Amino acid sequence: MENIEYAKGKAGLLAVLTKKTIGREEEIYNFFREHTTWAKVNFYSPTGHGAEKEEELMLNQDEASKMMIKLYELWKKDDSPLELRPMLENVRSFFTGFPVACDFSAVSCYKILGADTKGDIYPCSKAMNFPYLKMGNIEEGLENLVGSDIHKMPLKRYVSLKEKSGNPWLHLSSGGCPIEALSHKGNYMESTTYSGEVRNSLFERIKKDMQNENTRKHLEKKVGLIR
Ligand code: SF4
Repeated sequence: MENIEYAKGKAGLLAVLTKKTIGREEEIYNFFREHTTWAKVNFYSPTGHGAEKEEELMLNQDEASKMMIKLYELWKKDDSPLELRPMLENVRSFFTGFPVACDFSAVSCYKILGADTKGDIYPCSKAMNFPYLKMGNIEEGLENLVGSDIHKMPLKRYVSLKEKSGNPWLHLSSGGCPIEALSHKGNYMESTTYSGEVRNSLFERIKKDMQNENTRKHLEKKVGLIR
């Protein structure tokens, strides 16, 4: 709290949504509103040490959808300058036609590389726990690593999900973070737990809002595309 106060509203804040935050959406939102203009919500994902608490913390799909929508509605009707992500990015992607946040976009994911202190290169810093995702070493020259099979995996995954999932919102969700899918489901090529129904419930709500001219304009302003 001291650090947050010290930053005087300039620090970004992140909340992890779990079973323990059910019913506390307003409290979370108001805390953000009071202390920052940049905030993000993530769902708890059972990876690394956090995996031990899966039963205690992980939201089911219905709980996660309801929480997402409640937070979206709070942000939508709020006139403060608070930027709540991923809702802001999700709405913006409706106007622009493509997502930019990496966990909603296979292309953004493809544009990021991670390097460890030895100069070993991975398709993301999150991939470093998976030795078989090592693309090579910086000494080999980035031009020889970029475009390799491992580097192209996010794009291949997107195409594969598109062929088999039939998800009408895949272009705005891209199956979520592939490393999260790998950590939780053991398969890089699968969608994450929340990237289907849960994200889609929010996309459907945004779609409905977009059909109302006044709400559409209000949202366009909120995401900074018009004044
Ligand atoms: S692997 Fe996950 S965290 Fe890394 S860039 Fe892709 S979506 Fe983002």
